[in-house]
Amino acid sequence: MSNPKFRTMGKQFGRRSWAEPWKIKMVEPIKMTSRDDRLKSLQEAGYNTFLLHSEDVYIDLLTDSGTSAMSDRQWAGMMLGDEAYAGSRNFYHLEEAVQKYYGYRYLVPTHQGRGAEHLISRTLIKPGHYVPANMYFTTTRLHQELAGGTFVDVIIDEAHDPANEHPFKGNVSLEKLEALIKRVGADNIPYVSLAGTVNMAGGQPVSMANVRALRGLCDRYGIPIYLDATRMMENAFFIQEREEGYQDKSIATILKEFCSFTDGAWMSAKKDHLVNIGGWLAVNDGDLFDELRNLVVVYEGLHTYGGMAGRDMEALAIGIGEAVEDDHIRARVEQVRYLGTLLTDWEIPIVKPIGGHAIFLDAKSFYSHIPQSQFPSQTLAAELYLDSGIRSMERGTVSAGRDPETGDHRYPSLELTRLTIPRRVYTQAHMDVVAESVKAVYDARGEARGLKMVYEPRYLRFFQARFEPLA
Ligand SMILES: *Cc1c(COP(=O)(O)O)cnc(C)c1O
Repeated sequence: MSNPKFRTMGKQFGRRSWAEPWKIKMVEPIKMTSRDDRLKSLQEAGYNTFLLHSEDVYIDLLTDSGTSAMSDRQWAGMMLGDEAYAGSRNFYHLEEAVQKYYGYRYLVPTHQGRGAEHLISRTLIKPGHYVPANMYFTTTRLHQELAGGTFVDVIIDEAHDPANEHPFKGNVSLEKLEALIKRVGADNIPYVSLAGTVNMAGGQPVSMANVRALRGLCDRYGIPIYLDATRMMENAFFIQEREEGYQDKSIATILKEFCSFTDGAWMSAKKDHLVNIGGWLAVNDGDLFDELRNLVVVYEGLHTYGGMAGRDMEALAIGIGEAVEDDHIRARVEQVRYLGTLLTDWEIPIVKPIGGHAIFLDAKSFYSHIPQSQFPSQTLAAELYLDSGIRSMERGTVSAGRDPETGDHRYPSLELTRLTIPRRVYTQAHMDVVAESVKAVYDARGEARGLKMVYEPRYLRFFQARFEPLA
């Protein structure tokens, strides 16, 4: 930036763009299909994008989970897998990376995030407990409920309004939390379940000030804080960008400071850590660690691999170091923003501010004529696929599931369709194609009809439910 020649160029062209801090070394062909093909595929998939064959998808924005492109260094690491049953060298590399960047003392490897959620929920939650959280995540809440806990949403009200531009919509409402503590008693709250960049709120961050204050409140009542660190890198980026005093701090420094206010974390490494499989649970409490290390053997694998191959752990250890690089995370978030800005320029309703990993289309206002009982978000995901072969995901009534007490649908305030951007996979040209398809579907929105659910599995129904179009 200090090179005077570049400064002049910047002035001359009136803009300075960011770019990905990598170039492409290997490519995977993708194919465009015809509308007839897509209709057939969609019918076979019961109008659920989770049930499509990936081969029939053109641009796959279903999820950023396990869909990242690995670097040449990570691929080289795959060749260094130490596949010993016990004490693999790669485990120690992973342990070192987690200790270095997150600062927690003890590490338990798991096959992916929900393996870690299972272990921590089972160990800490007893029937009758309440688990406060800054909005729910599907697998997280289910494990908490299966362990006998009652989930309580304590996110700030702004998070439930898709148009509200609060810079830290992931924040915990300390008033809501304290009211809960007073109502049920601190003894009935095993921990606060805190998520960095809240997925279901639209990828919205938690501020450093909020986690610091949360720590203060929890200390007064003796309640631990466990962090869903799945997308903490993006959270750290938003703190750097938006919070007073953090502009000159690195992502790595911010991440470690944030984690220092918590007692441990679980991780879906399939997201932030740029690998296709993996997860972990890390804690500071030695007694808790002993229990977790024992339980992991029952459900995941020995405590030095937890369901991962040695090579997976090596790629993961390297991925952690790459994920905290400022250039990487900036390019990641800016690409999401690029897509979001195209859409807002066309006045297409999306959750704002634009989040860290995905664009969330506001299906409630997109299809204001379709009631939530007819699944507008699911309908939008189906229509997008039909239009262009782009795969998105429902994050509305289907994902919210049924209330365990009443058995009724839970109608969430946010009825969203998520366009999730895999890390280091698609180019800006792909984002243009996506934006134009969303625009085409938006222009034809009046013709869309809702769906009815014709098959509903018992757990996490959004993965396998089937639908038919309403006449
Ligand atoms: C994906 C995810 C999980 C679950 O992790 P898996 O690796 O898919 O099992 C938990 N929390 C959040 C926020 C996630 O995005």
